[in-house]
Amino acid sequence: MNDAILVINSGSSSLKFAILSGRGNTVIVEGIAEGLGFDNGRLSIKFNDKKALIKLSPSDHKSALIGINEWLEQHAEIKSALVGVGHRVVHGGEFFSSSVIIDNTVIQTIHECTDLAPLHNPAHLKGIEVAQSLFPLLPQVAVFDTAFHQTLTETQYLYGIPLRLYRDHHVRKYGFHGTSYRYISQKLGEIKPESLHQGVLVAHLGNGASVCAIANGKATDTSMGLTPLDGLIMGTRSGSIDPSLIAFISEKDQLSMSETMDVLNKKSGLLGISELSNDCRTLEEAMNTKNNKAQLALDMFASRTAKQLMSAATTLDTIDHLVFTGGIGENSQYIRHKVCEHLRAFNIKIDQTKNDSASKGDAALISDDNQALQVWIIPTNEEKMIALDTLNLITKN
Ligand code: ADP
Repeated sequence: MNDAILVINSGSSSLKFAILSGRGNTVIVEGIAEGLGFDNGRLSIKFNDKKALIKLSPSDHKSALIGINEWLEQHAEIKSALVGVGHRVVHGGEFFSSSVIIDNTVIQTIHECTDLAPLHNPAHLKGIEVAQSLFPLLPQVAVFDTAFHQTLTETQYLYGIPLRLYRDHHVRKYGFHGTSYRYISQKLGEIKPESLHQGVLVAHLGNGASVCAIANGKATDTSMGLTPLDGLIMGTRSGSIDPSLIAFISEKDQLSMSETMDVLNKKSGLLGISELSNDCRTLEEAMNTKNNKAQLALDMFASRTAKQLMSAATTLDTIDHLVFTGGIGENSQYIRHKVCEHLRAFNIKIDQTKNDSASKGDAALISDDNQALQVWIIPTNEEKMIALDTLNLITKN
């Protein structure tokens, strides 16, 4: 083991980490610090099928990383195998179209993108700063959610609003889940090499959800926008709505702008419609006991996913593959079935037996073998992609 990478995903109140080796193929240890900034900060570490729970005091990002480092000091063989640290960064604006080794200029540029991701980028910067002080000899790499979508043309990324707003404030579609889409495109390329020269649609369906169109391995359109609120109906996010609704809701419910945005970000989507849960599993269980609102929420989710897929497909010459990924895309037979039912006019069909029997955690073809347009389930692996980018950049430098 001489290629271990510490992957860090530092969020506003949580910090996820994993150490991967074998070119990102083996997860040695993983964990999450939760409740950061609140009274009950705690770090859980999973190693060799055992879980350790550490109370954090003070409850912040620094304590979380110190806790990880202390654990590493008790596992010297793992610490000594570390060759680099890879950080997930949500927003790289128009500055980053690929992953980079972190230096002072990169830190300053991530800081400049804070306006575009006010909750995420400051948390990433905290994670980077503490990791640099704890692991001063390890090179650190930033991997951006937005980078893969930098190949969109301006016809796709501009909004139909005064161009001045793009010039003055960088208002445009950026797109997210880019690390997942890049992983899926490469993985499909390993299974079907010709896909790297074809048109591919990917639905990344998790608590956050989006779609992406990929031609010749490059993104041509995606459903999320300036922020991750746009596009599909999600766990608690509304996705695309009539923009006039913002003023309308604010006036009718007597809400401030930030309270209205809270409704759209945290109280809408599957949760808002079902009035039960943002969790697809809970909603499927409720639907099976004849809960009509749970069924409505799931059916709306599937219908909007299908619409957004076909909207993104207008940037492709041909549609050769459709891939489902993310917690819902990989695990929900019902959602895959409903999405493809809505796409029947486009000759997108799945084999019901294959859809129902696909084994969890594996890539699977769920359309008929002889069908031209192939439908796949491919489990995503953003941590592996971050570890590989880190390793590749370190080796190159
Ligand atoms: P995120 O990374 O955006 O937080 P995930 O990709 O982990 O989200 O996906 C979480 C979603 O996946 C939840 O809605 C969860 O209910 C759903 N999910 C996980 N397993 C299943 C399953 N077996 N059947 C249906 N939905 C599932």
